[in-house]
Amino acid sequence: MVVAIDGPAASGKSSTARWVAERLGFRHVDSGALYRAVTWLALSEAGDPAGWREEAVRALAERVALSPTAAGFEPLVDGAAVGEAIRGTDVTRNVSRVAQLGSVRTWVNERVRAAGGSHDVVVDGRDIGTVVFPEAPLKIFLVADPWERARRRLIQRLGRHPQEDEIAEETEHLVLRDSKDATQTVQARDAVLIDTTFLTQAEQVDRIVALARA
Ligand code: C5P
Repeated sequence: MVVAIDGPAASGKSSTARWVAERLGFRHVDSGALYRAVTWLALSEAGDPAGWREEAVRALAERVALSPTAAGFEPLVDGAAVGEAIRGTDVTRNVSRVAQLGSVRTWVNERVRAAGGSHDVVVDGRDIGTVVFPEAPLKIFLVADPWERARRRLIQRLGRHPQEDEIAEETEHLVLRDSKDATQTVQARDAVLIDTTFLTQAEQVDRIVALARA
């Protein structure tokens, strides 16, 4: 069984997917973490992002693996966990560049499908319901107002309530990343659209778990 959760940047996909997986006894696969791990490696080894060549980045991807953990899967680089390093600003600002490379997308999709082949999974990303698992029996497309997404992302990152100017700046970054990711961020025709702007995370999770059990 595959539950696909797609949506724009910071729409709460990963945290929701992790929680839904826990409730259903499934494993969580965060497809964005693979794009991030490749980007992190490229930033340290492939020089200026403006000059990244597809073959070089695709070759670096060979050093990234998706390894099972108790709750799901985590990306390893050269066999070692990368943890929060892939969530930094530099990776976030350059990941869309890597995500545009067709051969890297094929590589990520193979890794994610392999994870889903061996377990029941909740997979989050942009194109899970359309490209990676088009036959998934449950597809969710999560959206939320950009300002609210930025506010939530900053609370997570700063551990405090952000100021208006901080939210405004973060909103700009999110909207820019959404536009760079627009090609692959597609709502499947049979996906259930959930606008989380006025929902708590527990409410979103409850809705998805109910749909999965229906
Ligand atoms: O989900 P997250 O924001 O961590 O994803 C990081 C980046 O990975 C996205 O901005 C997008 O460029 C790329 N991505 C993608 N397709 C997916 C998942 C992520 O293009 N299925």
